[in-house]
This record gives sequence, structure tokens and C-alpha cells, in this order.
Amino acid sequence: MVFIAEEGLNIKGTLYLVATPIGNLEDISFRALRILKEVDLIAAEDTRHAMKLLNHFQIKKPLLSYHEHNKVNKGNFLIEKLLEGTDIALVSDAGTPGISDPGEDIVKLCIDNDVKVTMIPGAVAAIMGLVLSGISSGRFVFEGFLPMHKKNRKEKILLLKDELRTIVLYEAPHKLKATLNDLYEVLGDRKIALARELTKKYEEIIYLSLNEAILKYQIDSPRGEYVVVIEGANPLEAIEKNKSKWNDISFEEHYQMYISEGLEKKAAIKKVAQDRGISKREVYNSLI
Ligand code: SAM
Repeated sequence: MVFIAEEGLNIKGTLYLVATPIGNLEDISFRALRILKEVDLIAAEDTRHAMKLLNHFQIKKPLLSYHEHNKVNKGNFLIEKLLEGTDIALVSDAGTPGISDPGEDIVKLCIDNDVKVTMIPGAVAAIMGLVLSGISSGRFVFEGFLPMHKKNRKEKILLLKDELRTIVLYEAPHKLKATLNDLYEVLGDRKIALARELTKKYEEIIYLSLNEAILKYQIDSPRGEYVVVIEGANPLEAIEKNKSKWNDISFEEHYQMYISEGLEKKAAIKKVAQDRGISKREVYNSLI
């Protein structure tokens, strides 16, 4: 929409990232509906899917597809339209665009082109799954989908082994069993929650351990899309592990490592003491 700003003519449009429901259509916000009605064009991850949502709310707008495989060309096209003054809404198949969904790249393009980009916030499956998991939600890491290939997936999980914060993942039903197995092999048994069909009729949050989940899905078939919430590493075990990793080198080598990094003698002794969970005096005595 072209408008006259106080300072002069401003012909640029605005990009609105509009969150849509992750299941229950009542979760759309008043503002989301208003913006979808007001914009000139709606870019959608899947136009047929978006059409169902728009039909439900009796919204008729030109639709254009914007997804992972056309995002470079369509992204440039959308920026051109925005620069010409077209107001555009971007919707993904479900939830918040930009969260494991197309959105990230177009936001960067808007910033680079000095185009106003804003968001109509709403549902995010990861947040709902985390909050209902009963696992600490104070500090968490969101990993989205783990890599498809087993080797890459295991490498990724290995990087999460010492993560103290709660880990939140997305998973599709046909990959859930393989992911649970890999998680168990690398992380050991941990408390998890499996949140499926969130906001839908058969919404279910299953509270169990990784091993119990593996046993469950030897019998049951995973159904629906999942948010997998995994408790972080045990802090005491992590501290012990961190301490023991220094057992392989002598106090002198450990101290010299910090000296070579440019630390003063006192600071190096303090760091060695911290790493090993012992007093500075003990380090000092072992060095003389
Ligand atoms: N942008 C979305 C969001 O804000 O949550 C996520 C899109 S991502 C392509 C799709 C994944 O989100 C699914 O595979 C599933 O892991 C999770 N998800 C989406 N809707 C869900 C629901 N109703 N219940 C559980 N998980 C859901």
C-alpha cells in the first residue's frame, strides 16, 4: 500500500510475517486476520494449504508460492514488489514463519533493502511442547529438525551431549523411531516428553524416558507431527566430566597451556584450579 509519510513520499511496502495456527484454526489472531485482509499479496509456503485457511476465513487475495526451493528467485521478486510499495504477508504451512519454515532469508533481504518487516506473532509448536513437557523451560535450545542422514544426525546429537539446557526438536512420524534410537545411543537414558497433535483433537503429551519411548514405538506406530523435548545433561555429571578431562595432562602442562595463551602466572594458576575443581594453593604447591 502506497502512503505519504510525514517526511515525504514513502512508497515502500511492508512485509508481515503472519503466524497461523498449528492445528486449531481458532488460534488465529484478530490482527493476523486483519493483516491478511489488508495486504495486497500473500506469499505462502504451500498455496493450496494457504487457500484452505483463507477460504475458511473468507479472505480472497492474490497468492504466490515462496518455499525452500524457490526462495532465491521469489525472494528477489518479493523484494521488488515491496520496494514498489506492495504490502505482503508471508504465511507458512503452520505456526510461525522463520521457525523451521521459510522466512529467515526474506527477513534478511528486507533488512538489506531497508524494507520494513514485522510480524504478527502466534503459535510455535516448539514453545507449546516445551511448556507442556514438564521439563525445565527456563533455559532451552531449539534444534529444529535433526539432519536426515544417520551419520550427520549422530554427529549433531554428539554436540548436544553436554548441553545443560533443555533440548527441543521437531520430528516427523516416519523418522521418530530412528531419532529416538540415535538419541538414546548418544545421550543415554534421559527424561523426555513427546508432544503430538498439539492444539488438535487428539493432542497428546507423552512423558517418559528415551528408553521407554523406544520400547513404546516397538509396539505403537508414531502418528502425527512431534515436538521432542529432552532434559539437559546432568550438571553434576558434566562438572565431574569436565574435571576428569584434565587428568590426562600434568599440572605443569595445564599451567603452561594458559601461560602460552598469554595469561599472567596468578591468572593461569586460578584457571587450572577452576578447571580441576581444586584450590589455588594445591596447584601452586604442585608446580614448585
Ligand atoms: N513454523 C512451525 C512452528 O512455528 O512451529 C514449524 C514448522 S515445521 C516445518 C513442522 C514441524 O513442527 C512438525 O514436523 C512438528 O515437529 C512441529 N509441529 C507443527 N505443528 C505441530 C503440532 N500441531 N503438534 C506437534 N508438533 C507440531
